[in-house]
Amino acid sequence: MRLGALEAGGTKMVLGVFDETLTQQSYAALPTLIPEQTIPAVLEFFEQNRVDALGIASFGPVNLRACSDSYGTILNTPKLAWQRYPLLEELKDALGVPCAIDTDVNAAALAECTLGAAKGLLNCLYLTIGTGIGGGLFCEGQLVHGLMHPEWGHMLIARHEDDPLLNGVCPYHPNCAEGFASGPSIQTRWGIPAKDLPPDHRGWELEAFYLGQLCVNALMTVSPEVIILGGGVMHQESLLPMVHQTVLKLVNGYIDAEQLPPMEEFIKAPALWPDSGLVGAALLAKKLV
Ligand code: ADP
Ligand code: ZN
Repeated sequence: MRLGALEAGGTKMVLGVFDETLTQQSYAALPTLIPEQTIPAVLEFFEQNRVDALGIASFGPVNLRACSDSYGTILNTPKLAWQRYPLLEELKDALGVPCAIDTDVNAAALAECTLGAAKGLLNCLYLTIGTGIGGGLFCEGQLVHGLMHPEWGHMLIARHEDDPLLNGVCPYHPNCAEGFASGPSIQTRWGIPAKDLPPDHRGWELEAFYLGQLCVNALMTVSPEVIILGGGVMHQESLLPMVHQTVLKLVNGYIDAEQLPPMEEFIKAPALWPDSGLVGAALLAKKLV
């Protein structure tokens, strides 16, 4: 059995073919240009590497309401050429094999729960902290979609009183997580790209303050057994231990010590990085065959 996987990202498309044991057989990466250029290149890959089913882990927002006529269509993205693009339908029609779609972060959560840092658990939240902030939730063994799909990055949070940014960088909300803690917010605040901010810069403490709020809000609402923090910003190694400290401080003893695991076990880096989304796409395909 050959499982096709597509991780459709804002800057690149990652393509893979896996066997039924989830061992990768082929791999390619293409730039995300306009659909008229990118989709033919994706199809060419899967014509040369035939698959029995395809899983798509897509950037969002994407219509995931199974009852909708435009299921699998990209919605209101800043990448204007992709707005209203029927990604699932185009690939399904062209390839003639069963295809499934979910968000890139839901796929990553599925992969980490099946094979990675939350292996065997039924409740896990995968958050990516990069150009944007997004999250995929695996809850009681199911990926959560609900009304649209949860938008963790736009959770409203409290601004730090010493934050030089008065408003976050999100064009919709003055005080959401993405506006205060995404890579671009770090760059706007300090005038330095997040990747170049030194490990001892006080910006990381502020970043931990915001990510800590996101994690505590997640803990108090959907009660994940593990939270996985991925994405480019988490490459800063000093950040994760600071998030641990902030979470403990914000929980403030409310949860019994015997219920809350040690922070190193509760908030973790992804084990499958950078392939969590791609492996998740292959797992979506596996469910179809
Ligand atoms: P995207 O969200 O576009 O898929 P990434 O997850 O790679 O991409 O996130 C990109 C963001 O991560 C950028 O803002 C970049 O500055 C930041 N970043 C990349 N590497 C590092 C690093 N080593 N330390 C901190 N931030 C980083
Ligand atoms: Zn927002």
